[in-house]
Amino acid sequence: MPGIRAPRPSLLTEPLASYCRQRLAEDPHLRPSALFKEVADLDFQGSRSTFYRELDRRVLVPAGRRETNSQEEDPQIPSEISRTLARRHERTPVLPQRVAPIAGETLSSYLARIARANHLTVTEVLAVLPTWFSTKTNNLDDRAQHHMLAPAATQALHELAHLIGTTPAGLTHALPAFGTDEGPVRATTACHRCTARLGIRQPVPVHLPIHHKVCTRHGIWLSDLGEPHLDVSICPEITAAQHRANRLLRRFTPQQLTLAHQTAVEAVPPWPASPAAVPHHWRYRLLALQTHNHHRGISTELDTYAHAARYPDAIELAAAVLPKHPHDPARSTGENSPDLRTAAPAAHGHFATQDSSPQVRATASGTTR
Ligand SMILES: [Zn+2]
Repeated sequence: MPGIRAPRPSLLTEPLASYCRQRLAEDPHLRPSALFKEVADLDFQGSRSTFYRELDRRVLVPAGRRETNSQEEDPQIPSEISRTLARRHERTPVLPQRVAPIAGETLSSYLARIARANHLTVTEVLAVLPTWFSTKTNNLDDRAQHHMLAPAATQALHELAHLIGTTPAGLTHALPAFGTDEGPVRATTACHRCTARLGIRQPVPVHLPIHHKVCTRHGIWLSDLGEPHLDVSICPEITAAQHRANRLLRRFTPQQLTLAHQTAVEAVPPWPASPAAVPHHWRYRLLALQTHNHHRGISTELDTYAHAARYPDAIELAAAVLPKHPHDPARSTGENSPDLRTAAPAAHGHFATQDSSPQVRATASGTTR
């Protein structure tokens, strides 16, 4: 309309907003700054402040989240931290009972297991470790590498390795608190069958790479934190879809795959097109999963069933909307089947554009796992 200023288009597209909602749901302590980095990798063009504003307006950040996050960004750093570290080493004992860390385990969980195995309290374990550990475990997100904690991290790592008689390399590999891998993660608990093999009875909170949904060894769906894991061995296509997702990561970043997956989830049809299609439809799988898990005492009224049941369809759609040749923008627009293109046009368009960015190309080729 002449004379009326058109509202400025939102830079945070609906697929990206949906991506953010999903990320905040699956990683409750995700910092807005870390999320900004993820969407910037997905070609979000706006500034940091635009992103925060959009996040508030569109994604509905839960009340209190912001405050929690500003605290997390600025932990209380004891001023004597470096002095204590300097004179520590010869005093640190070696505990009799070794405890192997679980992949992705949170630092608090690992320290609690060390304490329990050695018949100590966590406070007693923390007392023989540098204050770095108390500060680190007081922060909700132990992956945040605060600039004042980072310099002492190496020393802290060596102290912990010494205490439990293991190598620093093994700890760095397993514990995100020491990890250098900045890849996006989701909060869940480790596969209970994997941990049971190690004699661990209690749930182990972990941060896993965002695409990691299934323990492919045991056919266990690793639900988001707070929901029980599901036995999905009755639907082998769910495990197969996880393998397929892993293969897609040879060509795409975890963020790209998650965005495509999130867009695809919304495009999966709620009901089969014809009665003949029922045995292949996710609703059929949903029923199989509910029946199979019901005898394990797991309520059938959980969202996680639908997530698991829809997963094979969503990964198939995601694979279709991701360009076939990430390094070749010209070909990436022409090779998908037309019905899938209309099923999730936003994601397709998004990736087609993103493809031409040299920065994205560089990240995509660097994520082979
Ligand atoms: Zn397992």
